[in-house]
Amino acid sequence: MLGSNTLGNGWVVPADDAAITAAADLLRGGQIVAIPTETVYGLAADASNADAVAHIYAAKGRPDFNPLIVHVHDLAAAEELAEFGPLARQLAEAFWPGALTLVLPLREGAKVAAAVTAGLPTIALRCPAHPVMQAVLAKSGLNLAAPSANKSGAISPTRAEHVLASLGGAVPMILDAGPCKEGLESTIVAIRLENIEILRPGPVTTESLQTFSKRQPSQQTGQKIEAPGQLASHYAPTKTVRLNAQIAEDGEWLIGFGTVAGHDNLSPTADLAQAAAHLFDALHRADASPYRSIAVADIPDKGIGVAINDRLKRAATR
Ligand code: AMP
Ligand code: MG
Repeated sequence: MLGSNTLGNGWVVPADDAAITAAADLLRGGQIVAIPTETVYGLAADASNADAVAHIYAAKGRPDFNPLIVHVHDLAAAEELAEFGPLARQLAEAFWPGALTLVLPLREGAKVAAAVTAGLPTIALRCPAHPVMQAVLAKSGLNLAAPSANKSGAISPTRAEHVLASLGGAVPMILDAGPCKEGLESTIVAIRLENIEILRPGPVTTESLQTFSKRQPSQQTGQKIEAPGQLASHYAPTKTVRLNAQIAEDGEWLIGFGTVAGHDNLSPTADLAQAAAHLFDALHRADASPYRSIAVADIPDKGIGVAINDRLKRAATR
């Protein structure tokens, strides 16, 4: 039994079967629920319900030009929403369930609220691997729009406590399944003319994508904002952030990596996957520390290090 539901009071519950059923009921009733995924915690709503989707934008304070990723149970559900060409299908079969989001042409008549795609002719789709998110998708029978469960522009949540601290009473229910394994938002790719365009680097690396495309995947550099992760300032702590630090200067909390010890260390063994999983938690701790500003050690720009550096650059921009 879950006890009484204190709707609107920020309710963190362990993600057991009863909680997953309750979450599915809330979602079917047009409410928003924070749900763990393997990337970060997401703030989910029924993607076909305009009022439910409006709740996401309101809770996050998210600008309405920023479209949302729709989470689906499987490829069949995805194909009802978007047009899949051969390359898109190959990528879905290779990386789903997992941390890859595909931006594809929206299928005519797809049951998706207009705000989800922010009026674009494309839709961003992901089939997540986390067993809790998978269970909620199965139980609710819905496709779930779910951006990261934090105030727009702030540090992403990799623990239920982060969601509570950022969104608090704006979310009726937060499912808690401990820290997220990947710790960084999904890789977003657009498929254009059967080529891969990387809109946001993430856990699925450029190296692992390039075997699927004759042309080298391109990194999107245009001015037009298609992904909020492309905004110059995003994932931002309240304090200033200095990058490529060797030692802490006066008043700085140093987030170390490898042999740069620091007050905290993303990975003492210099393991980039471990560093990715710890990054946002370390930024949350640094922001909450009594130190004036934040410094971060140099992170090698290869593999998932590219995505870590992408987030750090935006965190350091104000
Ligand atoms: P978040 O869920 O907070 O990680 O952000 C969702 C990301 O998906 C943002 O970067 C969006 O701009 C991006 N996105 C969603 N839909 C589209 C789309 N149709 N085209 C391009 N990017 C999209
Ligand atoms: Mg986000």
